[in-house]
Amino acid sequence: MTTVLGGGTIVISLHPAEVVTGDVVIDADRIVAVGPPPAAGSGTAVIDCRGCLVIPGNVCAHTHAYSALARGMPYRLAPPRDFVEILRRVWWRLDRALDEESIRASARVAAMEALLVGTTTLVDHHASPGAIDGSLDILAEEFGRLGIRSILAYETTDRDGTGHARAGLDENRRFLARVAATRPALARGLVGAHASFTLSDATLEGCVALAHSSHTGLHVHVAEDAADERDAEAAHGHSVLARLARAGGLDAGSVLAHGVHLDRSEAALFRASGATLVHNPRSNMNNAVGRAPLGLLGPRVALGTDGIGADMFEESRLGHLRHLEERSATSDAEPLDSPDDAGSTDPAWPLARLAAGARLVGEEFDEPSFGRVVAGAPADLVVLDYPAPTPLTVGTLAEHWMFGLSARAVRDVIVAGRVVVRERRLTAVDQDALAADARPVATRLWERLETIEEHSFAPGEEMVG
Ligand SMILES: [Zn+2]
Repeated sequence: MTTVLGGGTIVISLHPAEVVTGDVVIDADRIVAVGPPPAAGSGTAVIDCRGCLVIPGNVCAHTHAYSALARGMPYRLAPPRDFVEILRRVWWRLDRALDEESIRASARVAAMEALLVGTTTLVDHHASPGAIDGSLDILAEEFGRLGIRSILAYETTDRDGTGHARAGLDENRRFLARVAATRPALARGLVGAHASFTLSDATLEGCVALAHSSHTGLHVHVAEDAADERDAEAAHGHSVLARLARAGGLDAGSVLAHGVHLDRSEAALFRASGATLVHNPRSNMNNAVGRAPLGLLGPRVALGTDGIGADMFEESRLGHLRHLEERSATSDAEPLDSPDDAGSTDPAWPLARLAAGARLVGEEFDEPSFGRVVAGAPADLVVLDYPAPTPLTVGTLAEHWMFGLSARAVRDVIVAGRVVVRERRLTAVDQDALAADARPVATRLWERLETIEEHSFAPGEEMVG
């Protein structure tokens, strides 16, 4: 069966921008032709895309689907005063309340909401200390059912004790072995690790060894808050990134979330490593942890939501606006003209950051043309209902992205050649029923959450001091 997206304006590449008008021909999971209309043969389904913009599917390069049922959840403790208290009193209570049913419902809701806003890949970092074994299979199964692509990892940590740390590592090992054996079409794995300040040397070594033997990288929070850096210096005598590098965990396959408090020497280590850093501007603002030194980080900076939905139009736009606002107030603001650099203030910044996310996914799936609308690339595409009121060209795409486009325009979504959203509705399941079915699961999750107290784990500098 061939599918043709007919007569749209096609964004062949977000960055560098490349735009043509014509058809996209999809056969099985791949784009087979782009350009002038071919002769439509029998067995061809044509989706009329006149007046529409066809773009590569967006990538959310760092998220937590397990938080999908968190919105509106009850909270009875004293308000958190800093980032570590946010973890102890909010997220490290929610993750312990998760069971198989709520992991499954969270995964469904996260996948639904991502697809409906034009995000076709989630790079997920999962934690459920009460239900570790098999949790990544649940995510893969539900994501696959709705048809979203994913790169999965379990958040290995010592904060719940060495038994849980071992179980977390085992879950990554088990899932990576399954991926290696079965090569599922839509899922890959990384080795998940929480953050330096909740990882013992032995556990970090175990994560690195597994990443090396599995030919993949770590997915780890790095210097999200100053507490992570203080702990690394106090407990290990090194900065967070130096510690990671000394353990052998900093290489081209690594996915580092946040990097808010990286200093110049760490930024240099990062740039030399070929790793990808995922900037999560809305989460950083929400937690008031600061802003990554983007001007020091080079081109390999992608964007994530850190669990605040999966709307990459919003994330990229807000991230750029915040960057513009702060550029004159930050010491890292060095005038850089190329949007390839994460410190650039060029209007193409959002597109360059999203292209960096697509490159990461392409590396994990061994698909060099991933994220481009070209023959031979995986068919992960979004059709935006966007009759542009001003000329839309290579030169104006970035301005349209910043000031015109939004998730509201998402009409159809295709992942690996499968139409997973058609006319703003999921094709695999009834999305209203999915949401309705999730609500009682959320209620039960919240009831369990209410019985769980503040987590007692403390970073090293607090234990030492
Ligand atoms: Zn995160």
